Amino acid sequence: MSVTSELRRTVADLHRELTKYELVIWTAGNVSARVPGQDLMVIKPSGVSYDDLGPDAMVVTDLHGKLVEGEYAPSSDTAAHAYVYRHMPEVNGVVHTHSPYATAWAARGEPIPCVLTMIADEFGGEIPVGPFALIGDDSIGKGIVETLRTSRSTAVLMRNHGPFTVGATPRAAVKSAVMLEDVARTVHFALQLGKAEPIEQEHVDRLYQRYQNVYGQ
Ligand SMILES: [Zn+2]
Repeated sequence: MSVTSELRRTVADLHRELTKYELVIWTAGNVSARVPGQDLMVIKPSGVSYDDLGPDAMVVTDLHGKLVEGEYAPSSDTAAHAYVYRHMPEVNGVVHTHSPYATAWAARGEPIPCVLTMIADEFGGEIPVGPFALIGDDSIGKGIVETLRTSRSTAVLMRNHGPFTVGATPRAAVKSAVMLEDVARTVHFALQLGKAEPIEQEHVDRLYQRYQNVYGQ
């Protein structure tokens, strides 16, 4: 099996996680993966139903969004994914959804404060808001990269739009999208009851270091 056909399967399987965790509706949302060692990525096609997103439906583009392999047009968010891969060499997976709780924070233009150990663990601090950007050029990609560079977070809430997440692997980017929606919901609930208590920076740092370096298998 070629590298891209294996990666098409991985990316197709990861799209199932978006529906499983109810992060997407209709044809919205997308996952992409960098093809290791090549200036290529695998991404979801545009406007294809989640039921039909098998490995063969995935498309391969270059890192400027030009179609290289595949029967469909690439996702309308391809330019944003490509920009991230061009400017963040450590990133090998990108995810975009309009998951409702995270997107509600994006609509308010408000960062999700670091008020849970899970947020410190996974995101290393508050989850930042990126600029308002229109689709069609590099503005979304630029907004994602510039915001993530100022933060340890793997997630950014693009203002009036929704979340983009990144990861060292495509699976890690999907995990970030799933965790993001979970904490966005929980912090929303907390704020319905009153104030949420921030975690001291020193503790945030310790939690983040431990989780990123020690936790897991
Ligand atoms: Zn979108």
